[in-house]
Amino acid sequence: MRHRVYIIGSAQDAGLPQFGSRAQADMAARLDPLSERLGPSLAVIAENGRCLLIDVSPDIKEQEKRLLKVPGFRGIDAVALTHAHIGHYAGLVHFGREAANTRAIPCYCTQSMAAFLGKHAPWEQLLKLGNLEIRSIETPVEIWPGLTLTAYKVPHRAEYTDTVALSINGKLLYCPDIDDWGQWPRSREIVSAHEVSLLDATFFSAAELPGRDMREVPHPLVTRTMDFFAQEARKRRLILTHLNHTNPLCDPGSEASKEAARRGFEVAQEMTSIEV
Ligand SMILES: [Zn+2]
Ligand SMILES: [Zn+2]
Repeated sequence: MRHRVYIIGSAQDAGLPQFGSRAQADMAARLDPLSERLGPSLAVIAENGRCLLIDVSPDIKEQEKRLLKVPGFRGIDAVALTHAHIGHYAGLVHFGREAANTRAIPCYCTQSMAAFLGKHAPWEQLLKLGNLEIRSIETPVEIWPGLTLTAYKVPHRAEYTDTVALSINGKLLYCPDIDDWGQWPRSREIVSAHEVSLLDATFFSAAELPGRDMREVPHPLVTRTMDFFAQEARKRRLILTHLNHTNPLCDPGSEASKEAARRGFEVAQEMTSIEV
């Protein structure tokens, strides 16, 4: 069965606009829905309408609204989680009895993510009441016929859980968060093995967080990513995603966006889809 992967959220965890920010980009995004970017998430939709959500962002209600426009989409049949930073799983609050009251939705994650959910309120209630059912992604897993997920552990400040990059059918790689490509020994090999990779592009340059120590929130700068994967960008689709609200790539007319295009990189656009 064929599947399409929809990019339903291309921002860093807090989205664009970011709550509390009065920066120009945030004010503009509040006025223009086209420049809004939602929390990081992908929807993998099968020909028969079944849907796997990869990461469950705090913007899930808005994302559902958009997904309802995709022909065949009915609802979420399964979820997979990369790690326990707020933008990647906090939308699960809507799966409980106060809202959708989902039944036995398979939740694919690592052992450490499962332990985190099982140990902390309000998530443990979702497991106790059977809204979610944990399934392991420690080894490659067939979600349903024609859809296989493979998880690769990547270095990313392990505050609560480990972090994975997810390979969908060996064709599309999703790596929204990583400390640095050089700290993941298999980064080049794995990216080369995929037709399309969605890569952590949180910050374009170090100038974006004045007064804040970048070591608190390590990510490869986009300038570094474009150098690191310069060879791969010639032969593969490399899509920059997980953009912080300060990132000039959020603006398609910026110099940064032009430079990325010149160097063979795409910038994630919401609701674009890729066949896998
Ligand atoms: Zn993130
Ligand atoms: Zn993270």
